[in-house]
Amino acid sequence: MKKKQIVVIGLGRFGSSVCRELYKLGHEVMAIDKDAENVEPLIGYSSQASVADATDKTQLNNLGVRNFDQAIVAIGDDLQASVLCTLMLKEIGLSSVWVKARDLQHKKILEKVGADRVIQPEYEMGIRVAHHIDSENIVDYIDLSKDYSIVEMAATEKIAGKSLIQLEIRVKFNCIILALKRGEDVNIAPHADDVVNEGDVLVVMGHRNDLKRLEEKRL
Ligand code: ATP
Repeated sequence: MKKKQIVVIGLGRFGSSVCRELYKLGHEVMAIDKDAENVEPLIGYSSQASVADATDKTQLNNLGVRNFDQAIVAIGDDLQASVLCTLMLKEIGLSSVWVKARDLQHKKILEKVGADRVIQPEYEMGIRVAHHIDSENIVDYIDLSKDYSIVEMAATEKIAGKSLIQLEIRVKFNCIILALKRGEDVNIAPHADDVVNEGDVLVVMGHRNDLKRLEEKRL
């Protein structure tokens, strides 16, 4: 795994959770918040935790932010600060800036000022939860675009013992099986003659409508 240098700005619930997890995964993470009270809990759970106003370009430069691979801006409530900070980071020259948005309007502004990816945690999580509820065998769900998604589906006893080719997922549903998970093992290049066990998880990519048809079939 390539170790990345990531700066996380805004240490509310979302930002601090991103920061802790990236640090746990072995990345170099700098945590920044304007409020010392929010910075303190990240000491020991980040490579460096600093108090700074992320809308101030001089302060960002003094912290050496330009040397980082990626930034996550997790300022939710203060729209102006979130937009200004994103703009500063792009001006400084960060190639990848991901920003948390409160709503669709916020998202549109962030895209205009150059955010590379905009995340709406509550909205995105709501969709995931709905898909879990809608389809009992859906384990996880990721949107690739407006039309395409990746879903993780738990295999039921209905298809246990069948090989991937026998399932005819590509022929009948126009979807691609990217991986087959069995417990901790992940087979990332499954063969057509690999046999599925009950409880295996199929990682499938396709058009939303095709995936929906596949989900309804309840594999
Ligand atoms: P949560 O992730 O808890 O839902 P939130 O969306 O409510 O957070 P805020 O509380 O608005 O987001 O902001 C998250 C953090 O960003 C706060 O800890 C706040 O101190 C910090 N923050 C806000 N403005 C700035 C700024 N200009 N520079 C650095 N940090 C900032």
